[in-house]
Amino acid sequence: MRCPVCGHTASRVIDSRPVEEGSAVRRRRVCEECQARFTTYERVLPVRTVRKRDGRLEAFDPDKLRRGVEAALADRPVPATAIDDLVDSVESALPSGQVQSDLIGRLVLERLRLLDEVASVRFASVYKEFQGADDFARELAELDGIVSPPE
Ligand SMILES: [Zn+2]
Repeated sequence: MRCPVCGHTASRVIDSRPVEEGSAVRRRRVCEECQARFTTYERVLPVRTVRKRDGRLEAFDPDKLRRGVEAALADRPVPATAIDDLVDSVESALPSGQVQSDLIGRLVLERLRLLDEVASVRFASVYKEFQGADDFARELAELDGIVSPPE
């Protein structure tokens, strides 16, 4: 856990206790570099189900999402940490409970576009397969011409 004062990545837990009726753990930490003390919370993420285009439900799987993003980013100069950040960012943007697969695709596309334009076009073309051509065209229009169509 990165120290909020000096940015050092090693810290030591000096106190740990359950809070929020046992649904979270609060930890006091001390930075091994500058000795600053800070607090972290560990929580179980809400469980989500995804409704697919064909109406089927499945559990949201961040690993599966990551594999899709990695495939789009194959051979692109993007560090693994940026992929982790993207997946985390999509996951935390999702509402709890049931979500539509379209929403996940859109959230990924938005973030991928900022990260790597080529990958976002690749992802959009895969996304298209389960979206239908009309939705894909609309999606590209919504991206406001920033993503140019593949040559
Ligand atoms: Zn520190």
